[in-house]
Amino acid sequence: MLSSYKRSAHVLVQQLKTQGVQDEQVLKVMESTPRHLFVDDVLKHKSYENTALPIGQGQTISQPYIVAKMTEVLRQVGVAGKVLEIGTGSGYQTAILAQLFDEVCSVERIKALQWQAKRRLHMLDLYNVAMKHGDGWQGWQSKAPFSGIIVTAAAKEVPKQLLAQLEDEGALIVPLGEQEQQLTLFVRKGKQFVEHRLAPVRFVPLVAGDII
Ligand code: SAH
Repeated sequence: MLSSYKRSAHVLVQQLKTQGVQDEQVLKVMESTPRHLFVDDVLKHKSYENTALPIGQGQTISQPYIVAKMTEVLRQVGVAGKVLEIGTGSGYQTAILAQLFDEVCSVERIKALQWQAKRRLHMLDLYNVAMKHGDGWQGWQSKAPFSGIIVTAAAKEVPKQLLAQLEDEGALIVPLGEQEQQLTLFVRKGKQFVEHRLAPVRFVPLVAGDII
């Protein structure tokens, strides 16, 4: 299994390069992180395909290309230090972030997913992650401000609390919309936010309110 997963991860990373991911550090971490540990046993044979996969509770592990691209954008705009992730899910994106940024704070509304993700991160010896069971629309006020915030579920509108928790020059990357979604980047310049539309995407919704 070990050597075959390494080969598959290598092939996947070659695809990411072909798709335009250039950040060598991101590519290196994507190649060395065992994505098969973040999916159920029955889907392990698909874990190095460049697709989103179901993780239970109606949720998905994001497509590797999207994980790589969002992470690359954060680094390109100068995010460093403390990062907030909304939507821990499988914990895969969290694991990638934890290897590239000093500290990762991650919020998930489904307790069962959060627990499973926590176990996986410990298995990989990633201890610079703080996790919270809560509503991502609220961000994580007591840990703010953040250099970067990444939302891995689609929001109907810009979550204002998240913008407020960015430090100056910090960046928020969030899929915006419902049926039609645009991956959108906001960079804080004092009290202003500069908005860039990056690409059409497809994420599960950022659910309002209740946590389970
Ligand atoms: N990055 C994750 C993506 C998981 S899918 C991965 O690759 O595995 C999106 C996740 O966002 C789901 O786990 C879902 O439960 C979570 N989510 C949706 N709405 C949320 C909210 N309001 N607050 C926190 N998490 C939320």
